[in-house]
This record gives sequence, C-alpha cells and structure tokens, in this order.
Amino acid sequence: MAQGKLIDGKQIAAELRQELKSEVATIAIRGVTPGLTVVLVGNNMASETYVRGKIRACEEVGIRSDLIRLPEETEEDTLLAEIDRLNQDETVHGILVQLPLPRQISEEKVIARIRPKKDVDGFHPINMGKLATGLKGAFLPCTPHGILQMLKRSHIEIAGKHAVVVGRSNIVGKPVSLLLQKENATVTMCHSRTKDLAYFTRQADILVAAVGKYGLITRDHVRPGAVVIDVGMNRSPEGKLAGDVMFEEVREVASHITPVPGGVGPMTIAMLLYNTVEAAKAALDS
Ligand code: NDP
Repeated sequence: MAQGKLIDGKQIAAELRQELKSEVATIAIRGVTPGLTVVLVGNNMASETYVRGKIRACEEVGIRSDLIRLPEETEEDTLLAEIDRLNQDETVHGILVQLPLPRQISEEKVIARIRPKKDVDGFHPINMGKLATGLKGAFLPCTPHGILQMLKRSHIEIAGKHAVVVGRSNIVGKPVSLLLQKENATVTMCHSRTKDLAYFTRQADILVAAVGKYGLITRDHVRPGAVVIDVGMNRSPEGKLAGDVMFEEVREVASHITPVPGGVGPMTIAMLLYNTVEAAKAALDS
C-alpha cells in the first residue's frame, strides 16, 4: 500500500532549535539573554502541560524563561497591572499569557494590553493587522508560522497551489490562510457553516485541518497526492492524542502528511522561541 511521506514536525522543530541556539549565543556576545515571561492564571491541566513544554524548550536554546503563576480568582485589573509591569521590564523581551483565561478576565483586553513588540504569540491586533495588510515587522502567530516553516523546509511548493483551510479561528485558520495567500497559494476557507465540506477539501493541493474534531477528515475528503497538515488536537475514542485527520487511511492517498502528536505541535513551540529571539534582537537594535 502506498504511503504519504511523513512531515516530521519533531525533527524540523529540533533543527530550528539548533539554529536558534546559535542565534542566542550570538546575542549573548552583545551582553543580552533573550527573556520570555509566561503568565499562567488558574489550574487548567492542559495549560500546565503546554507551559511546561514551552519552558523546557526555552531552556534548551538558552532563552531565560520566567513563569508567573496567578490564582484562578485573579481579577482582570491585577493581570493587566502585571502586564504593565512586564511591558516596562527591559529584561523581558517576550510576554505570553497562556490562554484560556478564567471567565472573569477578558482575553481581548489582556492581549491588547501586551506591547506589540513583546507579543510573541502574535495575537495583538497590531500584529494581526500587519499580517493582514502585508506590513513588515509583525510577529507571526506561532502555529500558522510553524505550518509555513514545515511546508518550506519539506520543499513543498506553495505558489500557484490550491490551499484549503478548514477552520477560521483567529489563532490558526485565519492567519494560516493569510500566510498561504502571501506565499501565492489560492486559498479557500471552510468552517462550520460550509455545505458539503468534502466538495471543497477534495480540491486541495494543500489541506490544512484546524477544527478540533476527531476523525473529521477521512480518505474521502482528500484528493490523491495532496499535502495534509493536521493541526487538530483531540482525544480518540481510545483516549489517545489525535488530530482532525484519520491518519492511517488518509496517509494512503496523501503525498505528505503531518502526524499528531509530533507534527504541528512541536513547531508551534519552536516558533514561539523564534519570536522571542527576534524580539530580543529588535530590542538590541532599537
Ligand atoms: P476554534 O474552536 O477556535 O475554531 C475551530 C474552527 O473550526 C472554527 O472556525 C469552526 O467554524 C470550525 N469548525 C467547527 N466544526 C466544523 C466542521 N464540522 N466543519 C468545518 N469546520 C468546522 O479552534 P482553534 O482554531 O483554536 O483550534 C483548532 C484545533 O487545533 C483544536 O483541536 C486545537 O486544540 C488545535 N490547536 C493545535 C495547536 C498546535 O500547536 N498543534 C495550536 C492551536 C490549536 P466556525 O468559525 O463556523 O465556528
């Protein structure tokens, strides 16, 4: 049985971390250590795991990381004051507030409060606006940027291809569509109100699934030879971590496919490190 080539996010992310490690060493010669501060509010189990992964990755490349833990009942004003303090701290190059936040806090307000130059998640409206309008100097959101890097480093041609993105969230679907468009793909966006999803996905040369529904994309959704990027993070009925794509059956028709775990996830963290290093370099040059 034919099998699509695996796009190994774990390996590409490791290469990226190696590159960043030498960048960090170069910056160190100028007397600066890139610094990332992660703010974690409450006790969300998944957030704990993500934050641990981010901090471990920082350590590996020599980025200084600080974790600020705030209790679940933290008031919005308290968090905003903490962000103001970090905005002023010159040793902090990147600020990441782990989402989701407890109900009493507006994520929108919190994201908007982070100085765009320290917004290493790339979610601030100024960074999103720069991405949308094609202005230079934006921090790109980590997951979409990670997807782009995976495609490029796997030598997959984007220009002139038809990319179909399933999902239109601000953190994945929308920005990945913009990035692919910038790379001269023809982009179709699908979402929960799309009628006959398979009609659209079957036309994709590059299919990005960013929904969060186990098993949504089956072999029947994929054109033979397509490149399939699976962003979804779900639990299979057996309790295993799995994407939106039925991996085994889709691999039989795809030319390239990302696994879950070991695909987009590690790339997301690598691009966070990349943004932090970029933020430190920009601070040095300003
Ligand atoms: P959201 O819930 O914010 O967005 C999901 C999108 O999927 C929405 O646009 C929604 O449409 C669309 N959708 C829902 N059901 C369907 C359907 N049946 N057919 C087509 N489209 C549908 O999720 P996120 O974008 O934040 O995340 C998506 C997935 O990616 C999740 O599993 C998340 O855990 C994972 N993720 C993984 C990351 C990684 O690093 N690997 C990073 C970030 C996310 P509508 O807009 O109409 O509601």
